Amino acid sequence: MDRPNAWKGYTEQDLEELERFADGYIDFISQCKTERACCDRAVEMAKEAGYISLEQARDQGRTLVAGDRIYAVNRGKNVILVQLGEKPLEQGFNILGAHIDSPRLDLKQNPVYESSDFVLLDTHYYGGIKKYQWVTVPLAICGVVALKDGRVLQVNVGDGEDDPVFCVTDLLIHLAGDQMQKKASVVVEGEQLDVLAGSRPLVVSDEDAEAAEEGSPEKLAAKEPVKANLLKLLKEKYGFEEEDFLSAELEVVPAGRARSCGFDGSMVLGYGQDDRVCAYPSLVAQLEAGDLERSAVCVLVDKEEIGSVGATGMDSLFFENTIAEVMELAGVGGMLPLRRALAASRMLSSDVSAGLDPSWASSFEPKNSAFLGRGLVFNKYTGSRGKSGSNDASAEFVARVRKVMEQGEVAFQTAELGKVDVGGGGTIAYIPAKYGMDVIDAGVAVLSMHAPWEVTSKADIYEALKGYRAFLKYA
Ligand code: MN
Ligand code: MN
Repeated sequence: MDRPNAWKGYTEQDLEELERFADGYIDFISQCKTERACCDRAVEMAKEAGYISLEQARDQGRTLVAGDRIYAVNRGKNVILVQLGEKPLEQGFNILGAHIDSPRLDLKQNPVYESSDFVLLDTHYYGGIKKYQWVTVPLAICGVVALKDGRVLQVNVGDGEDDPVFCVTDLLIHLAGDQMQKKASVVVEGEQLDVLAGSRPLVVSDEDAEAAEEGSPEKLAAKEPVKANLLKLLKEKYGFEEEDFLSAELEVVPAGRARSCGFDGSMVLGYGQDDRVCAYPSLVAQLEAGDLERSAVCVLVDKEEIGSVGATGMDSLFFENTIAEVMELAGVGGMLPLRRALAASRMLSSDVSAGLDPSWASSFEPKNSAFLGRGLVFNKYTGSRGKSGSNDASAEFVARVRKVMEQGEVAFQTAELGKVDVGGGGTIAYIPAKYGMDVIDAGVAVLSMHAPWEVTSKADIYEALKGYRAFLKYA
């Protein structure tokens, strides 16, 4: 039951398409490091592909028919794309789902403090991370600051060519005797993940300090001159004040572009590949779909890394509500047709899988592990300690998926996440499964999952695209 390495089967034409697609993917993950950025880009691409917004479709008041393409956005962090097929909607949708949030450090609501002539930004990490991996690497700060007057400022510092970057410092090895004896989980602790944000004091003359307004940086300079300088700079350059951090979502992410990896350039090293390495091919497959028999849906969600909770996570009703709206516009409104359509749907819940890492091979069971380069990975079940929390796809659906992959000539493999009893993981699959639809976990194998820089294989990214295309067409 060994699966062949996909690279062995490629023609010149395959390799050309693979490289072109990998370039597009590398650009996407280099430019889109937050769920908001991914969502914005997905909408841009959808509009180019002829999608119109749900609101616009509603305003037009016409009945949706096969070939119509609709998108709906939820708070700028969650997007759903629907393309209507020939068959009645009650016969169900073919759905591609993936998440666009990734592990990172979020700035706290009250983040700024001065200490020892530095100004630092306090963070609260998001998702499961090995905290010690996030020190001493160049970092960028991306996100939004929402102001009381309704404006939303975009912040993106650290990824532009001339931008400064940020970092979290670590204790020098010379003084780290005690630290090096600690357990890895506490070598660097959450409250030590503070971002170095400046070291230059604001210099104010005595007269100017005297004349300065209460609460202004010039007034603060006497007590905390480095913090004062940062606040002055934020005001001048970005137009917000310290109070505005209260209503900001600023994410600290690895700075710099994703790159080809290895002498042969066969892999990608990049941030946030969990799960944009599934989200991007899902999105592209949805956008390039031709005429379809069954209606196609691509849903890109937020908050997977913290349990799929909240208004923009898979567990929110946004998905169900959007499908209900689309069905209403297609002339099949109402609760019962909606329930029937959802129950008759088929879904690939796409998320990354743990690739067998030769440096850490003892944590894997090789017969049931994913290998980089052997194609799209299917996890019949996920979960941990006895499949707990898993959506265990039914055997009949797995058989259907095998057939579909054959029809699309897709290289695929099946896997579990590591050895039994070693650990495990969850995905969004169990949530749509509640409607009674068939769902299976699919995705791309990754090394160093949740690290600042993760590794994938270009062959697997290409096979994911082919697999998603085939699923929309044949499932
Ligand atoms: Mn993850
Ligand atoms: Mn994931």
